Amino acid sequence: MIEEENENLAPEQDETIPAEPTAETESAETEELESEPQPSFDDFKLNKQLLNAIAELGFEKPTPVQTQTIPLALAGHDVMGIAQTGTGKTAAYVLPLLMKVKYAQGHHPRALILAPTRELVLQIEENIQKFSAYLDVRIVGIFGGVGPKSQIERIQAGVDILVATPGRLMDIYRKGELILKELKTLVLDEADKMMDMGFMPQIRQLLEIIPRKRQNLLFSATMHERVHTLSEEFLEFPMVIEVTPQATPVTTVSQKLYRVPNLRTKIGLLEHLFHDKEAFNRVLIFTRSKTNADNVSSFLDRKGEGGVRVVHGNKGQNTRINAVEAFREGEVRYLVATDVAARGIDISGVSHVINFDVPIIYEDYVHRIGRTGRAEQTGASITFANEAEIYHIRRIEKLIKMQIPEDPLPEEVEVFKTPYEEQQEIDKEIDNQKKRANPEFKGAFHEKKSLPPRENIGKGAKTRDRKKAGWKKTKSGGASKRKSR
Ligand code: AMP
Repeated sequence: MIEEENENLAPEQDETIPAEPTAETESAETEELESEPQPSFDDFKLNKQLLNAIAELGFEKPTPVQTQTIPLALAGHDVMGIAQTGTGKTAAYVLPLLMKVKYAQGHHPRALILAPTRELVLQIEENIQKFSAYLDVRIVGIFGGVGPKSQIERIQAGVDILVATPGRLMDIYRKGELILKELKTLVLDEADKMMDMGFMPQIRQLLEIIPRKRQNLLFSATMHERVHTLSEEFLEFPMVIEVTPQATPVTTVSQKLYRVPNLRTKIGLLEHLFHDKEAFNRVLIFTRSKTNADNVSSFLDRKGEGGVRVVHGNKGQNTRINAVEAFREGEVRYLVATDVAARGIDISGVSHVINFDVPIIYEDYVHRIGRTGRAEQTGASITFANEAEIYHIRRIEKLIKMQIPEDPLPEEVEVFKTPYEEQQEIDKEIDNQKKRANPEFKGAFHEKKSLPPRENIGKGAKTRDRKKAGWKKTKSGGASKRKSR
């Protein structure tokens, strides 16, 4: 599903959706739309290689922290960013950094990113790898808890961007194995956490030994007094940007969660819910990808009474305006949208918001469900989550500081077996989540997918023996490694 999504989420020039149109006249609204386009990655002065990587990652539009940070960092300013994990802050500093570092050069690091934990170091390293898919840049991550030997070897082989925990960085520096005189950029990520963990002495030592003339970027989830003091010590005329996640869902919106194993069952659940035409009279349905948006809308077109329109980046601006208008006027009962549309749509009297997929930018959850329950009206939001999406639900719950009540799937809803490819995507996603939590986790998905040694299959076996490798045939003919719930 993710691959499908990536294919379909190529950024576009124009992703504008009406931002709370006044609806005085149609032409006034169109003018407003045209004069206030939402920022797109193309608006930044990023090179083709980076834009291609961004498109492949499926990022449709920059997040607020990216919109604010990227131009400032590209212009060479020091930046102090107050932003939490989940806001897209990594890309906000990595993209401008890659514009600066661009290609492998010399031997010693030209950029240093400090992070409090090994998990974050690995995550940042992984992010940089993805964004630099079309660049020739050497990235090395170093952290404690493992012997330094292989890390030193990697450094000696040449490095452009070094990602490090402060303790390990200073250890290796003191051994004389690291030259920092080429540094042009220093990033402190999760600065508040580094201070909480007692890394201040190492950071101070570091500031003594690196070149004074450099660009500094500091990110912190909070603006504590101590962070402020640190910023005064180490930033020069910083531009301060702050993104506070909108973490409080509107209280008039009820929330509900269903665990739904796969796409087909999700469609079945939609069909079941929409039998209640009276209650579900004006429904906004959010999907993660354009493909899912199209799938849901063509299903509703066939099955749902009351008409459906779809808005996403592949639709022309006029089509989108007309779709939203038809929904607003009550000409159609369903509007299917990707998150591009989420922030702009203000339509009163929306009975339900359905999260057909869980948003991976967690703030979007709040934005999505905020489309209902507006103007003192009560509204309802219902979220469908497969096994992999539950991970994101738990994080959304942390953000909104409440648990989303879960209901069992209604008995009338048929649970379909998950097709082979979809199950693979789900397993892959779960593996990635586990790897993020524990970098030593090797990945169950990988083990199951790989061939057992030939002798285990039997002499002379020429083809993959999925059965012996632990795969089960499903009724539909695909292989599934787990029973649908
Ligand atoms: P971060 O706050 O940097 O940890 O990022 C949180 C998540 O958002 C990561 O999974 C990123 O891959 C994802 N992300 C970052 N920027 C964007 C974007 N512009 N569009 C969609 N997803 C993004």
